[in-house]
Amino acid sequence: MKIYNTLSRQAEEFEPIEEGKLYFYVCGLTPYDHAHLGHARTYISMDMVKRYFLHKKYDVLHIQNITDIEDKIFNRSRESGKSPQELSEKFHTEALEEFKRLNILPADYYPKVSEHIREIIEMIGKLIENGHAYETETGVYYSVSSFQDYGKLSGQKPEGRRSGARCSIEETKKDPADFALWKKGEDVLIFESPWGKGRPGWHIECSAMSMKYTGGRELDIHGGGRDLAFPHHENEIAQAECALGHRFAKYWMHTGFLTVKGEKMSKSLGNFIVLRDLLDKYPPYALRLFFLHSHYRSPVDYSEENISSSQTTAERMFNFLEHAGELPESGGTENGELRKKLQEETEGFYRAMDNDFDTPTALSHMFGIMTECFSEMRKEEPDYPGIAEAKRDFEKMMWILGLEKEEKKLSPEKEKEIKFLVQKRETARKERNFKLADEIRDELARMGILLEDTEEGPKWKMR
Ligand code: AMP
Ligand code: ZN
Repeated sequence: MKIYNTLSRQAEEFEPIEEGKLYFYVCGLTPYDHAHLGHARTYISMDMVKRYFLHKKYDVLHIQNITDIEDKIFNRSRESGKSPQELSEKFHTEALEEFKRLNILPADYYPKVSEHIREIIEMIGKLIENGHAYETETGVYYSVSSFQDYGKLSGQKPEGRRSGARCSIEETKKDPADFALWKKGEDVLIFESPWGKGRPGWHIECSAMSMKYTGGRELDIHGGGRDLAFPHHENEIAQAECALGHRFAKYWMHTGFLTVKGEKMSKSLGNFIVLRDLLDKYPPYALRLFFLHSHYRSPVDYSEENISSSQTTAERMFNFLEHAGELPESGGTENGELRKKLQEETEGFYRAMDNDFDTPTALSHMFGIMTECFSEMRKEEPDYPGIAEAKRDFEKMMWILGLEKEEKKLSPEKEKEIKFLVQKRETARKERNFKLADEIRDELARMGILLEDTEEGPKWKMR
């Protein structure tokens, strides 16, 4: 399997550090507002990657941080009067619910910065000790020139950044390219440290927290959106490698942006579409397929037309599984030509996935399977076992891509109301008041409920 590694700028053969194990870290949200569609772009891509490893029977340890100490959260906290914890808790919980609807598998750990100050302080202490960081009156800074390899991920050398870069007036640093590990001073939320009260800088959290949950092991894959490669990931590497004394992560994966008219979708640009608004309009699988139609490293431009056509396509895929599921699994006439074509398409799917998760090509092979099977189904004596096998293969592919029909769920209040109406209809029937019973049945139908009278009593389900 080949993975494009930002570090080497080429597709490399994937070799796990430990056989059968994947240490997987993905930079998480800064939850100060609702998650937007750009977030879905990155986390759906990373979920597809994780699912493919799970399919290959890897034991995946997935860590994803929560940046709950950050200027944007603090600013929102000042505006709203809510504590940073309250805000981040609310928006992160909400985002996880939406991600769940999008069929994104949860991480094993969601470490919060505010709960890992001790680990962060320890790492900063180590960096000061071994000469990679220094203290000034405004904070503790990482000395970029102390790390030979600085710039190896992004190709940006500190010299390149220095020209034109201005040193913020509040910060006293030896070099404008240096970055804060600890920021001294009062803020919305501050913590005690050996360097006085303050709070950690942004980059140190991912280095310190990932190490805690891997026990200091090297990560196999570190992922995030393209914007994070510099400076965030470059700085993560610098801090972690100087503290650990070994490589931090083997493969660096970066997702392409969701753009709006060519510009990155972001809260700060104000061109964002809130994820939950879109989930009110389209089923989650439509969004998933919309993103998977593009390679995870390519930018995707927002298009409702394409989301809508992805919905139709996904429904055709579900429809294929339903049709195939209604057929017998044996009998018919064996069709060698069909079997050969199906095998080619299945191999094509896995070849594409093994080629840096090329989902657009993988999908084209799935459509090939559907076309072959549908035409076989129209025959007088279809190759039933051939179709049944294709269906099983197709189901595995759907799982890898996370394409599943969303189970419609009723709110507890709605369920109570339905049960009440079903009971009321039963009573009416027993009292031979058929007019009322029929009215209730019609009302239930309007609510999307199908009623069936069985020997054990009435049964109902959602349409
Ligand atoms: P944030 O909460 O802004 O720190 O972002 C969390 C993750 O979402 C990061 O990995 C970002 O790179 C990613 N992200 C944010 N906006 C977009 C976008 N428009 N397209 C793709 N990924 C994005
Ligand atoms: Zn990070």
